[in-house]
Amino acid sequence: MNIRVSLAIVSLVGVATQSLAQEEMAVPIESGVVEAREGPTAAELAAETQVVMLGTGTPIPDAYRGGASIAVIHKGEAYLFDVGAGAVRNAAHARYKYDIPSLYPTAICCVFLTHLHSDHTLDFSELAYTMWWRRLQKLQAWGPKGLQELATGMQMMMAPDARIRSSGTQPIFDNTGYSVDVTEITEGFVFEKDDLRIEAFAVNHGDIDPAFGYRITTEDKTIVISGDTAVSSRLMEMAGGVDILFHEVISDTGLTRTSEAFQAYHNRSHTTATNLGKLAVEVKPDLLVLYHGLYYGMPESIVLEEIRTVYDGNVVLADDLDRF
Ligand SMILES: [Zn+2]
Ligand SMILES: [Zn+2]
Repeated sequence: MNIRVSLAIVSLVGVATQSLAQEEMAVPIESGVVEAREGPTAAELAAETQVVMLGTGTPIPDAYRGGASIAVIHKGEAYLFDVGAGAVRNAAHARYKYDIPSLYPTAICCVFLTHLHSDHTLDFSELAYTMWWRRLQKLQAWGPKGLQELATGMQMMMAPDARIRSSGTQPIFDNTGYSVDVTEITEGFVFEKDDLRIEAFAVNHGDIDPAFGYRITTEDKTIVISGDTAVSSRLMEMAGGVDILFHEVISDTGLTRTSEAFQAYHNRSHTTATNLGKLAVEVKPDLLVLYHGLYYGMPESIVLEEIRTVYDGNVVLADDLDRF
């Protein structure tokens, strides 16, 4: 929405929209801009590590939440952990909302997948194929066994686009700019650059094996991202004393409102709010950030109430585009 339209609506619908319009006037959100970024600026290289939520949802369709995706911004590069549906749109938004050039979709360098469930991967093709003809560097991706199959299938699906664009007069920087450099990983350090170290560790996502969490260490932050997991002793070990623990959650009360078959599945595959609270008591993160929440009709804030029955540390429920 541009500012002129925002102001017109303010006069019609009042105060709630006015604060949105004021926010937009303070930080104009660019749109439809072609960017070709050759490398980080000095300001980006000097910036602190930031984390931007590009998707906080689940497989359940949601008007306000994209599928799971968390961007760690370090020294002018964006490292995405999962890339659920809507993540690329949110990245384009965050690029201007927070002035983070590395979040421009064709500038995103790297994706780390926790597992291959669709709510964590649906925007993988969106990211690889968004304006690929202007991509200056190929996208790189790390993830569990099966990632190469996913990438190959994606290329088959999008072959008509690659063929049509490559056979006409459209200028193209790299004829294979859509292809992704894939690395299938096992547990351990999977990426190191300057002060950034990324370590994958196995988590317990029920039948889904392997499924990984990630520990990200930089010069100024330690971060653990759970991916999807039931309570995991390995995660407790890896998350000990971190600055920020991003963890999935399912409401204890909400869980009782679904079918017995889904209750059994979720108990094997996901972490209830009270069990996450108990985990946080042991792990003692400076900040616990909840994402990928399942509520089954309960108000979302229920998970905060449930966690606070057992844990009195800092905890927030993240929304898309929140920044830490
Ligand atoms: Zn999953
Ligand atoms: Zn999931």
